[in-house]
Amino acid sequence: MTLNRLLFVLLFIFSPIAIAQTVTPRAKAVHESAIVIDTHADTPQRFLDENYDIGSTDPNDHGHISLDKAQAGNLGAEFFSIWVEPTTNQGHFAQHTLDLIDSVYEEAARYPDRMMMAYSVADIERAHKAKKLAALMGIEGGHSIENDIHLLRDFYRLGIRYMTLSWSNTNEWADSSGDIDEPKVQHHNGLTDFGKQVVLEMNRLGMMVDISHVSDKTFWDTITVSKAPLIASHSSARALSHHPRNMTDEMLQAVTKNGGVVQVNFYSAFVDENYRQAAEAQKKDRDAAVAEYVAQHKAAGQRITYLDQDRVEREWAARIPRPPLKSLIDNIDHIAKVAGVDHVGLGSDFDGVSGATPQGIDSAADLPKITQALLDRGYGAEDIRKILGGNLLRVFGEVEKVSRQLTAGAQR
Ligand SMILES: [Zn+2]
Repeated sequence: MTLNRLLFVLLFIFSPIAIAQTVTPRAKAVHESAIVIDTHADTPQRFLDENYDIGSTDPNDHGHISLDKAQAGNLGAEFFSIWVEPTTNQGHFAQHTLDLIDSVYEEAARYPDRMMMAYSVADIERAHKAKKLAALMGIEGGHSIENDIHLLRDFYRLGIRYMTLSWSNTNEWADSSGDIDEPKVQHHNGLTDFGKQVVLEMNRLGMMVDISHVSDKTFWDTITVSKAPLIASHSSARALSHHPRNMTDEMLQAVTKNGGVVQVNFYSAFVDENYRQAAEAQKKDRDAAVAEYVAQHKAAGQRITYLDQDRVEREWAARIPRPPLKSLIDNIDHIAKVAGVDHVGLGSDFDGVSGATPQGIDSAADLPKITQALLDRGYGAEDIRKILGGNLLRVFGEVEKVSRQLTAGAQR
């Protein structure tokens, strides 16, 4: 072996990438000892629009979630996102919400031996013991309830266990970070009175209140009003990537006081400032390309789904180099330091980011690499289990408890 070759081999062995990408038996053991919970995957779009089969074994499938991938990554519970694109579904938000909910039930019904619908902490634990993937659901965007508190309760009864108060669009009762600077949009300075009523009703029902995507003012209003701990189902740290959708250190500290949890989003632009700037720089051209694609298909009389647009988005995302896995781990570490290790978890945004995830994270099968990276940074097994799912279970349990208390109070 020449000296050069020796140096090359040593460099490879000790480079951060090599370390992060190899999962040691110890890391595997720690990872396997946890109930791993991810609080955000957009796979239901695929179920509904593509007829995607979660039992898929297609090695060329670019999706982040399948039963095999979940099993390989020891994913114990997934909160499937019920996301209704607000422009194309104008006038039938609730209907589309129902269609997406149905798509999750249909997948669970297809694979009763490997997957089960889950509605509680106890269900997640039961699924874990039975070695099945627990399927839960969260609504992403308060527009789904069409300003109707009755619909909110119906969605709870159908199994929805969190609701993100807004998506990127401001609705009639909650401001979003996504359009807060757009003068054409009618804003409310945070939550309206009805919005506050929605939060309190969610507390009573036992539906987790999710503040990902909301404007800063909506966050502060919500944390004041809510009687139960909050979650950010898929949000990262603004100190590391300056996106208005990410959380400031003050917000992280407020979540600590509230007893809630921030589930880190894996999207490259939310975890890495360089990637965010590169994505921002191409935004105008990218949006124009998507618009052109849509116009062409509409002119040809073809129906456009979100996934058709996603194909174009993917091509553009692939032009920016993927950030290192370190960027994702830095976010977990930052939130663990600022909010505390009891207040951070995983909210991947799998199947919702046009393939733009950090190096090494290509699907749920790669989740053990996160455990490895946390061990490499000196995190102990106990803390890692909290991050992987323990913290979310605690908060979900608290939310269930507050619901019982509020309901008991009403009966007296
Ligand atoms: Zn989202």
